[in-house]
Amino acid sequence: MKLKIPFDEIKDALETASFEHHCFVDKSRHEIVFISECEDGYEKNLKKVEGDDFIAIEPRMPDDDFKVMESFIYEIQNDNFALAERFHKALERTKPFRNFKELLNLHPEFREKWFEHRDKQIKNETMNWLCINDIKLEDCSFMPKIEIKELKPPEVKIPEEFEGFSPVECMNCKNKYGIKTRYFELNTPAENMFIEKEIKRIMKEKYELERYGHISGGEKEILTSSECPKCKSGEIFEDFKA
Ligand SMILES: [Zn+2]
Repeated sequence: MKLKIPFDEIKDALETASFEHHCFVDKSRHEIVFISECEDGYEKNLKKVEGDDFIAIEPRMPDDDFKVMESFIYEIQNDNFALAERFHKALERTKPFRNFKELLNLHPEFREKWFEHRDKQIKNETMNWLCINDIKLEDCSFMPKIEIKELKPPEVKIPEEFEGFSPVECMNCKNKYGIKTRYFELNTPAENMFIEKEIKRIMKEKYELERYGHISGGEKEILTSSECPKCKSGEIFEDFKA
């Protein structure tokens, strides 16, 4: 289903929806419907959005925001490990949301980063939501342009923790020899289902590959694909070299 609603309106709705403020996507009119329980006659209005033309947006839960804070802490670990630890402790105490905000106020140099991170996470949530509900938008400008480039082995920069990870055995014919791995570099991390779907399409169309693995943690995300020279199977067991 293709909708003419701008991406940012859906993103706002996902951010706003709560148990008191209901949000619906009206598929026939291509618009978002807001119904607040503070308004008079809201029950009557809720009856109007019961048909198949409407998709109710789930209320945003504290846990959703908690996850965003946790992923932020993970992200700043490399910049400032000690501060990340303090943020982590702030979330473990009572009133985690207030603690987090207070600590952020003490470190204005991370405020901008926090708002960027939060925005990025909610964009990802929105793209996942679109994917789950099988919705395409007419204006696709929200979608990053995905480029996948095959690398020659000397160009591959594998993160340290993946060094030595390589093909061991073909799961189809048990061959252990001559299994080659191809490496591909992504220009953007596969951070939501929408992007993953697009990667899948490109890998199939451009490289005729349906099976591949992800290596993340390096400067760029890498995809790997191995093939058995004997039976041409792509089902390869991989492990760290002993
Ligand atoms: Zn094989």
